[in-house]
Amino acid sequence: MLKIGLTGGIGSGKSTVARLFEIHGIPVYYADTAAKEIMSTDEVLQQQIIHHFGANAYVNNNLNRKYLADIVFKDKDKLALLNSLVHPATVRDAMRWMSRQTAPYTVKEAALIFESGSQAELDYVIAVYAPKTLRIHRTMQRDRIDREEVLKRMKNQIDEEIKMRLGDFVIYNDEQQLLIPQVNRLHEQLLELAK
Ligand code: ATP
Repeated sequence: MLKIGLTGGIGSGKSTVARLFEIHGIPVYYADTAAKEIMSTDEVLQQQIIHHFGANAYVNNNLNRKYLADIVFKDKDKLALLNSLVHPATVRDAMRWMSRQTAPYTVKEAALIFESGSQAELDYVIAVYAPKTLRIHRTMQRDRIDREEVLKRMKNQIDEEIKMRLGDFVIYNDEQQLLIPQVNRLHEQLLELAK
């Protein structure tokens, strides 16, 4: 079974594209959602987080998100440290999850595939492209946040042009090209590759 990565910048439309693959019956692993869950359920990861960030990182075994967020959003190194703990755990979990699926291919939707080097575990990567101004606008509307906040979140991601060059396939979600036909075509192509 093929393992497909699906990535793109904040607000590019990764989750929207992922839902279109789900309509075709393709199982999708949402790395962001899974990572949040794993931080409360993976015991090894939990111990590592407590070791580096202190016992206050958990309250009654539940992740203390506010406490951790206050630390990592003020300190770039601490954010990198947290990512370096959570990322391998998510990659392991995604691989376990993908290997349990029975579809011809599965999709892993994640913002930081190239940044974390996790493309090595995947057969192909789809990059979703949208121009920066559109991505900012979409994210401001979706999350009800201001432009500065969006730009802050974008800072940890590699340049969009580089990301598009690294991808094996590109989906243009730029309001110039229709999204659904592109996903339909790619789905057929991936079914062929999976044979
Ligand atoms: P993030 O990395 O922040 O999770 P994302 O890449 O997953 O973002 P989405 O959440 O899929 O992006 O899209 C961002 C917003 O833009 C959402 O509110 C979504 O509904 C909207 N959007 C995405 N693509 C389109 C489109 N083609 N037409 C209209 N709205 C769109």
